[in-house]
Amino acid sequence: MELACLDLEGVLIPEIWIAFAEETGIDELKATTRDIPDYDQLMQQRLRILDAHGLTLPQIQDTISRLTPLEGAVEFVDWLRERFQLVILSDTFYEFAQPLMRQLGFPTLLCHKLNVDEQGRITGYTLRQRDPKRQSVRALQLLNYRVIAAGDSYNDTTMLTQAEAGILFHAPENVIREFPQFPAVHNYEDLKQAFIAASNRDLSL
Ligand SMILES: [Mg+2]
Repeated sequence: MELACLDLEGVLIPEIWIAFAEETGIDELKATTRDIPDYDQLMQQRLRILDAHGLTLPQIQDTISRLTPLEGAVEFVDWLRERFQLVILSDTFYEFAQPLMRQLGFPTLLCHKLNVDEQGRITGYTLRQRDPKRQSVRALQLLNYRVIAAGDSYNDTTMLTQAEAGILFHAPENVIREFPQFPAVHNYEDLKQAFIAASNRDLSL
């Protein structure tokens, strides 16, 4: 039995923090896991910047409500779900993802949760577990699934390593260079071909 795991931001939807940085004009908010591999360090920095500017969750959600999936992402997800059970493994938060997940047809999403006070200030966050993407793949393997995973960034590499097959999609040059063991593709057509190649079934339907 085979199962597909996909990262969300940068693979199916735009980077939420970059979109918010662009709307607010706060350049420091543009850093992502591509720039700062330590997720906790990155999130603490983001929360400090939000506080310094008095920005709250409803303002971020307002930006998110205007975002759409990347061009071709909806069709790709439909293609993949006809051939694999799909689980999205993301380091985003349920409070951010909802409107975009609706546009993707609500595939299963495992991610994190924000802590928010009554004024809408983000006071912190609750990570589901440590190294969540890799642990999720491990758990699915314990259910006897063979996992094919695709992601674009540093925070995906333990997931790609744990999976029976890992694929880099839309990854920046530095990640591709550091992880030459993973095939690197840059559009959905090639990503489909990479899933077909990684599968142990004949998917040429
Ligand atoms: Mg990503």
